[in-house]
Amino acid sequence: MIMATIDQFWKFLKTVRKKSFTELILCLFLLVLIPAYYFVDVFHILPCMYRLPSGSIWYLIHVLPLTFMVFNLLTNFVAVMYADSSVIGRLLTVSEYTSKEDSIYCTICQCNVPLRCWHCDICNVCILTRDHHCTFSTTCVGHYNRRYFLWFLLYLSAASFYEIILIGYYTYCKVTIKFSDFMVLVPFQSIITGFHLTVGQIFVVLLTLNLIAVTMSSLLLIYYLDKVRKGLVCHEKQESSYDFGLMRNLETVFGEKWYITWISPFIKSKLPYNGIDWQSHVDQYKTK
Ligand SMILES: [Zn+2]
Ligand SMILES: [Zn+2]
Repeated sequence: MIMATIDQFWKFLKTVRKKSFTELILCLFLLVLIPAYYFVDVFHILPCMYRLPSGSIWYLIHVLPLTFMVFNLLTNFVAVMYADSSVIGRLLTVSEYTSKEDSIYCTICQCNVPLRCWHCDICNVCILTRDHHCTFSTTCVGHYNRRYFLWFLLYLSAASFYEIILIGYYTYCKVTIKFSDFMVLVPFQSIITGFHLTVGQIFVVLLTLNLIAVTMSSLLLIYYLDKVRKGLVCHEKQESSYDFGLMRNLETVFGEKWYITWISPFIKSKLPYNGIDWQSHVDQYKTK
């Protein structure tokens, strides 16, 4: 058990090392920005809004759900990177995988790969039940990490929506924003006007980043949940034969305890399929 964990962690470190500089910067951007927002809320904005200790109840009503959201946001994000969906170390260990009829040959990995497995040019490996390559987490979303990716999107939508309300209200009460502060959104404006950052500009940036985050994450969440509902991955067409009914489709992505996986990525939820024998799962479903 411990050896398997160490082995997986070592594999994870090796995968991170191969990522491009841009991907690592984007990944770090999220890993720094999320805790930064949290600390600004907990240690500055909320104490300003609810004078302590008299406003402790209201302070806690905000801080507890916020902590839960940020915890899930960060841990699901790390879990997306950590839960590897690649074929490495998997194809040879599965004894049932003997049929060559339902496999495709990958000329780069130089092996037969199962149905729904696609090669990722960025990760440079075939990914089981590949959905897409996520630039922020610098990894492919596939069979073993779709669950974490979807919860990450949900918590990102929820947290950024909460931030818009909280920071928006705080700005309305305490910060004066002038029209000129919006100039901070114009790229390279400091070259023209000179660099002098105001409090108003900081809040314009904070709100804009959240507006972008809430729009993107909620649209993506709706798109991916619709795919899950239909038993599809990103580039599969509508008439996919992997639609096993809503409940089974949810289990395929979130595992057998799908209804409680939102609580934490640490909750174990066994996936019903191994991401390899898709044809036999389809046959089994049809004969039911
Ligand atoms: Zn490949
Ligand atoms: Zn990839």
